[in-house]
Amino acid sequence: MSYDTGNIFAKILRGEIPSHKVYEDDDAVCFMDVMPQAPGHALVVPKAPSRNVLDADPAVLAKILPIVQKIAIASKAAFAADGITVMQFNEPAGGQTVFHLHYHVIPRIDGVPLKAHSGKMEDGAVLAANAAKLKAALG
Ligand code: 5GP
Repeated sequence: MSYDTGNIFAKILRGEIPSHKVYEDDDAVCFMDVMPQAPGHALVVPKAPSRNVLDADPAVLAKILPIVQKIAIASKAAFAADGITVMQFNEPAGGQTVFHLHYHVIPRIDGVPLKAHSGKMEDGAVLAANAAKLKAALG
């Protein structure tokens, strides 16, 4: 399995399609998932191209988890969450649908189940509002 530069996150990273971005540094970007499994569902995406953890450079993996942590802490505050679910899928059998490495950061409220993965497209205004909340919590 090789990396396809035409995948949707590669296009977002190149600025070819829009996203509700909340964070960017030299190594990664974070933007809102367009089909959130809970309000505030964000994606942390390394800039370096790899399909998933199976082919990623360990140096990229070492840099991404502190960024995931930063977003998770901000997400818990921004959405008054009781907990945070971090998910990452590898290959179709592992549940992956977009083939550029990414981590899901999902704020959770006690007793509220996750909505379907890649389920319903969220309204752009809602995504923009949640991106603003998360951005504000990042300071
Ligand atoms: P995966 O199944 O690969 O772990 O997750 C891919 C995620 O990307 C899904 O949660 C899906 O809702 C989200 N997604 C798919 N297309 C787009 C898009 O064009 N923009 C954004 N921001 N998220 C997307």
